[in-house]
Amino acid sequence: MQAHQGHYIDGAWRPAASASASASGPGPGSGDVIEVVNPATEEVIATVPAGTAEDVDAAVAAARSAAGAWRATSRDERLAALTRLRDGLAAQQDEISATVLAELGSPLRLARALHSTVPVAVTTSVLEVLAEFPFQEKVGNSTVYLEPAGVVGAITPWNYPLHQIVAKVVPALAAGCPVVLKPAENTPLTAQLFAEIVHHAGLPAGTFNLVTGHGTVVGAALAEHEGVDVVSFTGSTAVGRRIGAAAGRGVKRVSLELGGKSANVILPGADLATAVKVGVGNAFLNAGQTCSAWTRMLVSEADYDEAVALAAKTAERYAPGDPANPSTRLGPLVSAVQRERVRDYIGTGIAEGARLVTGGADAPEGLDVGFYVRPTVFADVEPGMTIAQEEIFGPVLSIMRYRDKEHALEIANGTAYGLSGGVWAADPAEAAAFARQMEAGQVDINGGAFNPAAPFGGYKDSGVGRELGRFGLEEFLQTQSLQF
Ligand code: NAD
Repeated sequence: MQAHQGHYIDGAWRPAASASASASGPGPGSGDVIEVVNPATEEVIATVPAGTAEDVDAAVAAARSAAGAWRATSRDERLAALTRLRDGLAAQQDEISATVLAELGSPLRLARALHSTVPVAVTTSVLEVLAEFPFQEKVGNSTVYLEPAGVVGAITPWNYPLHQIVAKVVPALAAGCPVVLKPAENTPLTAQLFAEIVHHAGLPAGTFNLVTGHGTVVGAALAEHEGVDVVSFTGSTAVGRRIGAAAGRGVKRVSLELGGKSANVILPGADLATAVKVGVGNAFLNAGQTCSAWTRMLVSEADYDEAVALAAKTAERYAPGDPANPSTRLGPLVSAVQRERVRDYIGTGIAEGARLVTGGADAPEGLDVGFYVRPTVFADVEPGMTIAQEEIFGPVLSIMRYRDKEHALEIANGTAYGLSGGVWAADPAEAAAFARQMEAGQVDINGGAFNPAAPFGGYKDSGVGRELGRFGLEEFLQTQSLQF
């Protein structure tokens, strides 16, 4: 695939700092690149520059230069610019789908139905919020102004490559903040395509900048940069802790969207067949590489055996296969590292005594090439087991048994995470009452649909702050009050 051999800084593709260093002789990091691998074929499909702290300096300097003019734009000017960006995203959906298929291994149907379309819906939702948002309010004898919080450093993961970018960059720009983006190593091509779309939307030079590279180099430099005022991070809890610490040292605003181990609680009397079918689909979405995935299914003793049988039958319909085939529902995992991690967890589940109902750690038959894992269901999973506590990030579902509602709640809340969840009951009010006791940022009642305007974020170790809708915009605003 075509890739830019530079970073998008100050409105243009600029050679990486290491490229000019290599011209004057070899040195540490000279001309370093990241190889982008197609997870279905294991072939290198492109390279992008592995940036350095110098590239981050240049990008932050460009963002700081652009900050004054961008914060001075009117609401209407920002609405016009971001509408052009939204229209650009909508016009490029085929290209986006092809890129996500190639570098993430997303099945084509998912790339089309989700990876390329949700970012358009999210951008539209930000436009709606921006159109109405009160940037000024009276509080007693004070006028409170909500103003841009400054230069944003955005660091994103690979699992929903464009959604994660859009969920940060668009509200930051809407708030009046310029952005420097560091995308995940595995999926930089989607980020480059986004930069092209920003460019064609005619945003002023420096308002959006992209530096590709390694997390420990470019990500760390961005999180620690004194020219960055807000750090917005999505990724693992382990890295999130470091980013939070760096932001604390620099007294920067920080938001952390981290991992999850979400519970799908099926209460007695719920439509079991639907709850199990939707629950398995949720756990296996994007090959299980979804932070909010319902990886633990909680079922009452009375419904347990039936639920396990239904889950096994449903899981077997998720045959792994070529993501380019329009009928494929389960593609490969993003990388060999991720595949090994998931296979190790499956081995641990078996070793700790969980019952393997379907799937397993072996490679799926006939798929010797590509980072494929079998869709796997475990039953008789106990709350203390590793597979019930840790985020696996692959197509692995743990089915757990509860005695009564109190026990179900104890299991649901019994992990370090608190990102998402689902509750099913015959009466939605009963499900909602249960959900209100869950320590989770968002819970779907009887399969309630994703809402791009609803706040998204975690309790406990799943994060700090919220993305999307009004709540996402507010992450990029700070207040000034004038007393009269
Ligand atoms: P990761 O934490 O390894 O990487 C995320 C990003 O951080 C990447 O861009 C990476 O290069 C960068 N990074 C790595 N080390 C860094 C460092 N020391 N300093 C600064 N940046 C660094 O996560 P991943 O493997 O890319 O993504 C998977 C994880 O993301 C999962 O745990 C998943 O649950 C989580 N996630 C959370 C959400 C959410 O909204 N809560 C959404 C998607 C993914």
